Amino acid sequence: MHRGLMAVRRNSIQRLLEGVFGIAKLRDGQQRVIDSVLDGKDTLAIMPTGGGKSLCYQIPAKMLKGITVVVSPLISLMKDQLEKLEELGIRAVQVNSCLNAEEEHAAIAAIEQETCEIVFCTPERMVSPEFIATLQKVMLDIVVIDEAHCISQWGHDFRPAYIGLGGAIEAIGRPPVLALTATATDEVVADINKQLGRKLNVINTGVYRPNLHYAVQQVTSVADKYQAALRLVQASEGVGIVYAATVKAAEDMLAVLEEAGESVTIYHGKLPAAERKQNQDLFMDGERRVMVATNAFGMGIDKCDTRFVIHLQIPPNLESYYQESGRAGRDGLDATCTLLYLRDDKRLQQFFLMKHYPCAQELQLVHCTVRGLGDTGPVTPARLEEALEDLAESSIKVCIKLLKDAKLIRQNRKLEYIAASAEPKPGIFDKLAAVYVQKQEHDKHALEQMVGYAVSGYCRWKLILDYFDDKVAGFEHCCKCDNCRNPPELSLT
Ligand code: ADP
Ligand code: MG
Repeated sequence: MHRGLMAVRRNSIQRLLEGVFGIAKLRDGQQRVIDSVLDGKDTLAIMPTGGGKSLCYQIPAKMLKGITVVVSPLISLMKDQLEKLEELGIRAVQVNSCLNAEEEHAAIAAIEQETCEIVFCTPERMVSPEFIATLQKVMLDIVVIDEAHCISQWGHDFRPAYIGLGGAIEAIGRPPVLALTATATDEVVADINKQLGRKLNVINTGVYRPNLHYAVQQVTSVADKYQAALRLVQASEGVGIVYAATVKAAEDMLAVLEEAGESVTIYHGKLPAAERKQNQDLFMDGERRVMVATNAFGMGIDKCDTRFVIHLQIPPNLESYYQESGRAGRDGLDATCTLLYLRDDKRLQQFFLMKHYPCAQELQLVHCTVRGLGDTGPVTPARLEEALEDLAESSIKVCIKLLKDAKLIRQNRKLEYIAASAEPKPGIFDKLAAVYVQKQEHDKHALEQMVGYAVSGYCRWKLILDYFDDKVAGFEHCCKCDNCRNPPELSLT
């Protein structure tokens, strides 16, 4: 870019930054991401939690003339995000299943009349034919994919609803994409590129956060574990999160903490939505000091003064552990991340690994159903789900994806499913299912690496950085984790 033009750009960014956002200076990574977006490049920003990913689209959204669409799985946070933007004088709307008819009508009207600058929507909405038709009519600047690791089957938080995003973005005229995530291994980056059919310009600011003090405590029984967690909570100042791998463990932990008189609340997927929201608010507003939760809690949560995160069980892989523990210390101040490790916990994660995968019979069933329904009119996703009511919605989506990749079915511009006219080759469904066997192997390996972290005597940060293949110049030891402070060799003698 011409130097003069670059200077003009820098000036207008600086004016916005101070005038609208009240922020003195962009961080280096933010500057690079914003430049890439303004240069019209498809971009993937990998920045740690709290790194300031939102500004990377808010600034371009203010500078460019059209509409910026932000796809995010976090309905519960959209309202807060909207309110924050409103306070800054940025016109934003949300489109998701929580709106009533009137609100939705108003949001769609604001998009059609191009009176808003930022549109938040869920991935489910983004792939819906009506919404695509709306977006086809307006001027779009960029499509932002928040929590972009959810696209990848190799990612730790794969969401089938993200599968159709690539197609939806094509359908709305292929605007530039900005994908945002806190973590992506090389494998996940490659998969995001593949799913979107693009080569994203990757800007990775690294995962190292020196204010996080990692530690692992070995425990010998489940009861011992709850007591260890209780002692940690009692010894910690400030607010914190205790993660449990199951609803049952979360409930048991809650009981132990309540019994001991701690100020605590709970969050998991089996609570009714209203109660979940209420408990989240209690924690966010500082009325409860401790949140006991399953991994349903946390993505996008901005409780920046969280001082500790305790894990009652190992997550399935280090990526999940880094994401969840990384909710501590987003304000940059010291925080502790403790994993309580009981050898048997590995078996629990192994049990989780056994599910999740479509088999050849399911693939064949979905394919046959698309074919059969096709004889009597267009096969919409809703119609297919109705016909396959015995299959979980997420299983159907995964099957559809595999069948699409294999060109056994395709989707038209209205996103209806159409079966290919040719007969499927013999053995094709087994072959497709085998891809998932491969994923299962991959997940087993990832679990071994997580266990390796739990039992290792090396610097915890070194293990995390190695996992992400992140080379922090000159890094040897963090000097703050349990292993750095008490080298295992010494504690044995
Ligand atoms: P992320 O999505 O990467 O986890 P957010 O975009 O939610 O992070 O930003 C986290 C916090 O950091 C927000 O409160 C934001 O206002 C603040 N922030 C972002 N960029 C800067 C900056 N350059 N200087 C100071 N504060 C910033
Ligand atoms: Mg964010």
